[in-house]
Amino acid sequence: MARYIGPVCRLCRREGVKLFLKGERCHSEKCAIERRNFPPGQHGRERKPKLVGYGLQLREKQKLKRIYGLQERQFRNLFEKAARMKGPTGENLLSLLERRLDNVVYRMGLGTSHAQCRQLVRHGHITVNGRRVNIPSYLTRVNDVIEVHEKSRNNPTILAARDATAHAPVPNWLEVDREAMRGRVIALPTREDLMQVQVNERLIVELYSK
Ligand code: SF4
Repeated sequence: MARYIGPVCRLCRREGVKLFLKGERCHSEKCAIERRNFPPGQHGRERKPKLVGYGLQLREKQKLKRIYGLQERQFRNLFEKAARMKGPTGENLLSLLERRLDNVVYRMGLGTSHAQCRQLVRHGHITVNGRRVNIPSYLTRVNDVIEVHEKSRNNPTILAARDATAHAPVPNWLEVDREAMRGRVIALPTREDLMQVQVNERLIVELYSK
């Protein structure tokens, strides 16, 4: 599956908020949002047009896609899956995104960015219920146990990420043993958990429902 490999700070600058795409740098004063919080490009510093209607909906969709590192086709497919599920489509969409294996690895603090966690999964460092899974979009379920493969426990990248994220909060729907590099999905994310993503998912539903 294709992935974005261009500069990522400009994605944050386009949205005007930190999307935390670059690991530790995002928490430092080197963050581009701290230094140059205006849209990228030649006319970035000019007066920002006020966003309404379609513009607002589009920006919200782009923001969510970029947080989780999805391309349009993959995001759209996920939206359609969310729309077929029972319950509010926006919440279903956020729940499906949160339960992706690469995101669970990120929430467990085994990587400092979604991109790094995606790579950990792709390179076979992660197991689910004792079996290697190298599909970042794998949808985790309640009671799934996610671990670092025993051969990767001394991987310096994972160890460094674990130390760097030692104080990062763990969502309520996950139980994490950082020392053992193991986590378990103990519930599906609730509405309160999903609100932490800070995206107005209703705008995205409106956009795709046109
Ligand atoms: Fe975004 Fe992180 Fe770059 Fe800051 S450092 S602009 S949060 S990717």
